[in-house]
Amino acid sequence: MRGDAGDAERQAEAALRPRGLGDFVGQPQVRDQLSLVLDAARARGRAPDHVLLSGPPGLGKTTLAMIVAHEMRAQIRITAGPAVQHAGDLAAILSSLEEGEVLFIDEIHRMARAAEEMLYVAMEDFRVDVIVGKGPGATAIPLDLPAFTLVGATTRSGLLPAPLRDRFGFTGHLDFYTADDLTTVLRRSAAMLGIDAEPAGLVEIAGRSRGTPRIANRLLRRVRDWAQVRGSGRVDRAAARAALTVYEVDERGLDRLDRAVLGALCRRFDGGPVGLSTLAVSVGEEAETVEEVAEPFLVREGLISRTPRGRVASREGWAHLGLTPPGEPTA
Ligand code: ATP
Repeated sequence: MRGDAGDAERQAEAALRPRGLGDFVGQPQVRDQLSLVLDAARARGRAPDHVLLSGPPGLGKTTLAMIVAHEMRAQIRITAGPAVQHAGDLAAILSSLEEGEVLFIDEIHRMARAAEEMLYVAMEDFRVDVIVGKGPGATAIPLDLPAFTLVGATTRSGLLPAPLRDRFGFTGHLDFYTADDLTTVLRRSAAMLGIDAEPAGLVEIAGRSRGTPRIANRLLRRVRDWAQVRGSGRVDRAAARAALTVYEVDERGLDRLDRAVLGALCRRFDGGPVGLSTLAVSVGEEAETVEEVAEPFLVREGLISRTPRGRVASREGWAHLGLTPPGEPTA
């Protein structure tokens, strides 16, 4: 999911993307497992098994897909679920793949049903049935495909139908990064961008980056702006604090959307439980954005929880807003 990042942001992001597995920071388990899959494939001289990557936006799924291609010295073809709305869209991509190529499908859970079924056969038998004609006279012409590796990315692995999930030989779940790992990401980015940064400044940014490298890199650029225009040019702790106050990122990393969701839950719905769609309407956002972007972080921080009856604010959630839950004596 790209969010509403503009072209300039996307270019800045691409420039900072690690190319090899060795440059990929954090996620030790996924890195180790993936390196085994790739080493084994290389040793056998075959395309690696299909790889499914799941986790919230901005944690490195696209980066890892590109790393798979780079490590295998293979070409990569990139598409996304919403762009594959007809089986024909997928047939066109599959039939033009070359031996060993990596096909990356972002947001694979949003692909059309008919295309999904075509993908099952392509993944398992490296074959695609091209339908010629319509109605009772239609015939399926089987077309053999070269061996390729599918890398699928999803923010919601639970939404993938089991037959699709089961056809991936390896599934890696990316989790939010620790502040230490994000500091490492930032140190590398600052060096690449020629930013004069103090360790304390990077630690401050890392702590407010919602465990997400994309956000860490974005905030680094905003703090650099602040340092250039209003500060000494140096990214230090004071510059980071001042800049992130301007951009409404609080000390725990909550941004405007996170605080809007938590605020609505406490102030309008007395802390819940409230259903996702009601909550989303009350903050003027799509349910999907609230569920995939704000909630995973708020849940991980222990500020809200998901219950069968709806979303509920925790005591810590109330406290973060400086509020007292109903029925408790005010401090
Ligand atoms: P989305 O699902 O929103 O497309 P994503 O999970 O594919 O997100 P990426 O586009 O791979 O995320 O990563 C976002 C940015 O974060 C990249 O530009 C990259 O520079 C940086 N990044 C991600 N993971 C790492 C990492 N482990 N080490 C260093 N930088 C990283």
